[in-house]
Amino acid sequence: MSEIIDKIYELRSSFVVIGLTGRTGSGCSSAAKLLSAKKFDEFNAPSPEEEDNISNEDRKYRIVYNYLNENWHEFTIIQASDIITFFVLQHSYDDFMNSFAPSKYKENPTFKDDYKKLHEKAKKTLRILDERKTKLNITGFFDSFKNELERFKISITDEVIVSMKKVFDQQKKETHRFLFLELHDFTTKIKEYLHENKKCNSYKEYQQWGDNIRFYGKAIHGEKDNIDINPSLIAKYINLCVKFLRDYHNDENMTTYVVIDALRNPYEILYFRERYSAFYTLSINVEEEDRITRLENLGFTLETRNELDEKEYPEKKKIVDSFGQQNIQHCIELSDIHINNPQLKDRNLNEMKKQLVHYVSLITHPGIVQPTRIERVMQIAYSAKINSSCLSRQVGAAVTDKNFSVKSIGWNNTPEGQTPCLLRNFDNLYNKKEGEAYSQYELNNNEFRKTLSEIKNKVSNNYFNLKGRNFSYCFKDFQNYTELKKNQVHTRSLHAEENAFLQIAKYGGISLTGGKLFTTASPCELCAKKAYQLGIEEIYYIDPYPGISVEHILKCGIKKPKLILFRGAIGRAYFHLYHPMLSHKDELSELLHFDIGAMIDERDGCNK
Ligand SMILES: [Zn+2]
Ligand SMILES: [Zn+2]
Repeated sequence: MSEIIDKIYELRSSFVVIGLTGRTGSGCSSAAKLLSAKKFDEFNAPSPEEEDNISNEDRKYRIVYNYLNENWHEFTIIQASDIITFFVLQHSYDDFMNSFAPSKYKENPTFKDDYKKLHEKAKKTLRILDERKTKLNITGFFDSFKNELERFKISITDEVIVSMKKVFDQQKKETHRFLFLELHDFTTKIKEYLHENKKCNSYKEYQQWGDNIRFYGKAIHGEKDNIDINPSLIAKYINLCVKFLRDYHNDENMTTYVVIDALRNPYEILYFRERYSAFYTLSINVEEEDRITRLENLGFTLETRNELDEKEYPEKKKIVDSFGQQNIQHCIELSDIHINNPQLKDRNLNEMKKQLVHYVSLITHPGIVQPTRIERVMQIAYSAKINSSCLSRQVGAAVTDKNFSVKSIGWNNTPEGQTPCLLRNFDNLYNKKEGEAYSQYELNNNEFRKTLSEIKNKVSNNYFNLKGRNFSYCFKDFQNYTELKKNQVHTRSLHAEENAFLQIAKYGGISLTGGKLFTTASPCELCAKKAYQLGIEEIYYIDPYPGISVEHILKCGIKKPKLILFRGAIGRAYFHLYHPMLSHKDELSELLHFDIGAMIDERDGCNK
């Protein structure tokens, strides 16, 4: 043991929060359950290969496996649905029942009793959490309390202190039991009760309650309630549970590892990300075919599945809706680590386990192995994406030869020599200033100029809201409005993939036939066609639910490229996980008490 090495790694390993995200049916709950294993043995990860001629990827797995085997900490699960139950339970039993009017639900006496009991506990726990009473380090608190009283010449017997401590201790234990046991049991009971009465999936009620909490501040709202948007409310209560758990564990000198199952609202992810450097979003992704089969097994019909998809994966949403409701596409975009769960081919979840072992090791010991080559290239594509000045979405791409050697990169942007969208200004166009930045069409076309005047009239009263922001505008939207069509052709930008291909035509380079394309989104029909024509053999992509380009372009003909869903750490997490905290050599020499430099000096001295 080395104290200094322990102190360094404690910075990373004493507190960890993982937020899971992914669509219903992708396996978030399975991942949470795995992480909650009490011992590494229970986690039951596949053993590393021990043969002589193993690959470097096998060696990496062996290293992370061996490390985690000796450094495993169980995760405590915080279920988002339990937190929603917590909000539901703030309402009385009658309010709960009336919320289902006019459909009449049968009373269930046991359920009624349970509800009433839990309702009282929920109210009490809310008070305790809000005041954060449990944060008191009990021993310290009573010692200082005693000293205070003595200053006023009031003496207090040790027996009184002991019994007061007991009361506090009791309260802490009750809170813990309520939050991490009773609440979860009661979520199951609510779900059962809903099934009894409607024989359908209870996810809809939970989604609705979640939306109500973010929009009205409570799970059940009356008609007179005013909208009071608070997208962080659920996250805030999850966070209070995290803090409670941390205080609770600190008193017992335990580390706190939490896994949140699951975050499906982008604001919630930002909320934790901006708070904790020890927070990681893990998206659990499945291939679309797998997901559908899984949902069918869970009893979803085509109709309920479409409803679910519309809710989780909306086509286009207003910003208020996007941050107030679920938007899993946005959540996946914000994810730090992408886990691939090929659950139908992999019933004992070995693939997912291997990935979890890899990333939990890296979370607690950054730099214990280097990135995979897929991560390395995708990170380059991801860095490229940040350069995009598109107003709606940034995408990055990288193209490699068959050995993963990067040949070019690209991001979605206007052709070189034209002014990028983000740098143009509506009023300059309107007043025909800085003519170079705008097209002849934009400056002179009568129909288009009419659109500009119309928009100017509509928004000029709201200019004060911009507070110094540049009023740039999306040509595609304005042109579609002018034509009253929704046409993707009018985009000013080249796509990231397209740009990466064109770099080679522009500056020279090598043939891409047999190469690989990496994209931080998923290829559209136009880019898929180009990749196909170039003879690209593998396409790595992050957005797991692409449109028809896959079915239509890529799964067609005799030279089908292989589509591979990205797995790995990306963006901020790539550096956070793979950048070592100290050199491995120094770490080993400290742990093994051996200093080769001193040994050289010593031997050198002997020889003289
Ligand atoms: Zn654009
Ligand atoms: Zn494209």
